[in-house]
Amino acid sequence: MNIALIAHDKKKDKIVEFCKKHVAILKQHGLFATGTTGTIVKEATNLPVHCFKSGPLGGDQEIGAQVANGKMDMIIFFRDPLTAQPHEPDVSALFRLSDVYEIPLASNPKTAELFFHSLK
Ligand code: PGA
Repeated sequence: MNIALIAHDKKKDKIVEFCKKHVAILKQHGLFATGTTGTIVKEATNLPVHCFKSGPLGGDQEIGAQVANGKMDMIIFFRDPLTAQPHEPDVSALFRLSDVYEIPLASNPKTAELFFHSLK
């Protein structure tokens, strides 16, 4: 499976915690991420992660293009619902594409835990 990892700034600690916990599962899959998220996940876990551009600079749209082209199978996107994001239209577009193509998208750690339970 190809899995996309994305976290807004206030959720980056959560995605690092999640990825550390699930290294054994993650290493069996292709990993992709927006720039900053991917960089910190790589540093924290040593997992190979392909980094796209940072989210605000188009990374969410790059991942959306992967979804539209049938190249992404799951999205873990820890979204910050309490902070305005300059790239909110890009975030909404990615959520929309995940529904268009019926790609599972976990927007918080508890949903991601359920997804990963099914990957075990
Ligand atoms: P980032 O982008 O990983 O480059 O911070 C995430 C986002 O805000 O969409």
